[in-house]
Amino acid sequence: MSVTGLSNGTTYSCTVTATNSVGTSAASAAVSVTPSASATSSLPSAFNQFGANVKVVYNESAGTVTLEAAGRPDHQSPYWNPNGTSGLYVAPGLETTVASMSPGYIDNYTNKYFLTVPVNPQKASTTTATSLGAIGIAITGSPIFNGQEGPNVNLDSGVISGFDNYGAHTGPQVYHYHLEPTPISNDDIKLFAILRDGFFLYGRKCASTGTHPTDLDASGGHTSITQYSTTAVYHYHIKNQIYLTVNNKNAYLLFDGAYQGTPNSVTN
Ligand SMILES: [Zn+2]
Ligand SMILES: [Zn+2]
Repeated sequence: MSVTGLSNGTTYSCTVTATNSVGTSAASAAVSVTPSASATSSLPSAFNQFGANVKVVYNESAGTVTLEAAGRPDHQSPYWNPNGTSGLYVAPGLETTVASMSPGYIDNYTNKYFLTVPVNPQKASTTTATSLGAIGIAITGSPIFNGQEGPNVNLDSGVISGFDNYGAHTGPQVYHYHLEPTPISNDDIKLFAILRDGFFLYGRKCASTGTHPTDLDASGGHTSITQYSTTAVYHYHIKNQIYLTVNNKNAYLLFDGAYQGTPNSVTN
């Protein structure tokens, strides 16, 4: 039995009676209850976009959210072991070939990634360069990397030609994304990831205008409403800037700027 139509913060007195064919009982002793907004309702709804491979734990009193990512994607890829049990292996399509792919199957790795960010992150007074390794966590459960494949080594067309159609491949110990993941976000407003500084990364278009934003800073960020926030918040976009064209597909780097907030550590 549930009672609806109550207001948060108002105290209600409830009693219960039981009714059967004989009649109705006397009312029980009264209990008083005060409904309140549930913890999850005050978490920005963007966090609801994380899939089953990312556990979202909200610490309301600390004002933080901890993401526990499986370190594996929840979608198909030729980077799954063709003979494995994931059920997610798919042969490479036009985007790559087995010969061009990086070594290592997703199934080989069992790294979980933990990232704790403030629920309401703020821009920092100075920016911080990204480094190799995870710079954020995608909604799919795998980390995202920047535009480099090694110390001061930019992604080249050879490496990109081994990416699956999600703009991802396996690297040291993990499957990770570098490019716009077109099956998830393809020149649109979709949310794809959260970066270590707690700011969300969206597709090339912004919900505030439905078009490519023209006011982005050097990190691809700006402050506006989003599809998940009716108040203006700072967030990043995949910049609408072709990085390379490989296998007849334009490559857009997920993130090649500096953190505009304070990066939190990612542990795995
Ligand atoms: Zn890589
Ligand atoms: Zn935007």
